[in-house]
Amino acid sequence: MTHMQTIPSPAPTGFDEDLERQVKARPRIVCAECQHCKQFREVAKSGRYILKARCAKGHWRKGSKEETCDLHRVTARSRKDCPDYDSTSDDPRSRKRFVEQLEDLLPDERHIHEPDGSFVDKTETMTWDIRRT
Ligand code: SF4
Repeated sequence: MTHMQTIPSPAPTGFDEDLERQVKARPRIVCAECQHCKQFREVAKSGRYILKARCAKGHWRKGSKEETCDLHRVTARSRKDCPDYDSTSDDPRSRKRFVEQLEDLLPDERHIHEPDGSFVDKTETMTWDIRRT
């Protein structure tokens, strides 16, 4: 009786080429186009506020700390893949249009607002400090 020679199967590499190819072929996700990208007010002691954005799923992090960003900078938030991405668009065409128009929809710089929503005069304060503004 001969021994059947067993050839060891290659060790799993944890790398799935097909999945990798699919991910690369997908358009980059722009977080501002996701349902979980939320606008919020960062309010100073005085009641003045600025508009910011955050990921409601908590994916914007620096170490253990949640990151947020000024609303006018939210287009910089993008990623190749996200387990919680949920498009706000009905179809790929409207998504493309939204992303193309995004810069025009956003403020072009940081604005400080009075509690009633009006703008604080830029000559009065050019900086934002949550404790002193
Ligand atoms: S859930 Fe993902 S895609 Fe959506 S805002 Fe957060 S990080 Fe971006």
